[in-house]
Amino acid sequence: ATKHNKKPDWLRVKLPIGKEYAKVRSIVDEYKLHTICQSGNCPNMGECWGAGTATFMILGNVCTRSCTFCAVATGRPNEYDADEPRRVAEAIKLMGVKHAVITSVNRDELKDRGAEIWYQTVVQVKQESPTTTIETLIPDTKGNWDALYRMIEGGQEVVSHNMETVERLYRNVRPQAKYARSLEQTKRTKEFGKRTKTGIMLGLGETKEEVFKAMDDLVENGLDVLTLGQYLQPTKMHHEVIEWIHPDTFAMYKEEGLKRGIQYVESGALVRSSYHAERHI
Ligand code: SF4
Ligand code: SF4
Repeated sequence: ATKHNKKPDWLRVKLPIGKEYAKVRSIVDEYKLHTICQSGNCPNMGECWGAGTATFMILGNVCTRSCTFCAVATGRPNEYDADEPRRVAEAIKLMGVKHAVITSVNRDELKDRGAEIWYQTVVQVKQESPTTTIETLIPDTKGNWDALYRMIEGGQEVVSHNMETVERLYRNVRPQAKYARSLEQTKRTKEFGKRTKTGIMLGLGETKEEVFKAMDDLVENGLDVLTLGQYLQPTKMHHEVIEWIHPDTFAMYKEEGLKRGIQYVESGALVRSSYHAERHI
């Protein structure tokens, strides 16, 4: 073990307990749904589930990609569950979620990248819970722009697509993705008329200048909301934590992002792209 493996104090979080937490857990189980909260071992489960909110992960829990930071299983998914949109919509209604966050694995093997399931999910959530706002954290459609437009035309308020890291680290961190392509996806999403959002993890070895460059590129491509959080290594098999970013540095990034013209920047060690999502619809 290196000194890097020891978490600083500011990353200690409360254990997930309580009535609301138990309710969310039982609905997720009963409706056979997946959440990124569980798949990603998110440190905020106590807080988010305790407040009656969760991030649903659709299109199964096996991903065709192998990002080196991610705890979701990689492989060839065999699941195509046409009933999933209905169950997600019912669960969100039952939980009384005011702002629903939905994400998915990558389904590169599907011609439409899973866009139809995405579309149906958004439409059915809106049908069941007309006052619920929806944020969709969508995958890289690999330049299939028809798939992108189908994913985002169901009526959601916010469309996120995570950059995850700075350009130089893509090959190592997001080997099947391309920095320029993810920027273009954000640009097209904005041109389509959606509120755009992205997340970047810090502590993977990026420099401050590289983070500023990513911010500039994002502003140029129409980004509205940025989240910056500390990368945590899910298992020993995953990318190492290179640096624990200090809270003061997170505060500095927030200021820099706002200065550059990003409307809303959520920046802090425990920030995830779905954290406090209801604050910047
Ligand atoms: Fe789930 Fe997001 Fe909250 Fe983490 S921050 S527990 S992934 S909703
Ligand atoms: Fe994880 Fe998403 Fe990468 Fe798949 S595409 S490995 S779910 S981060």
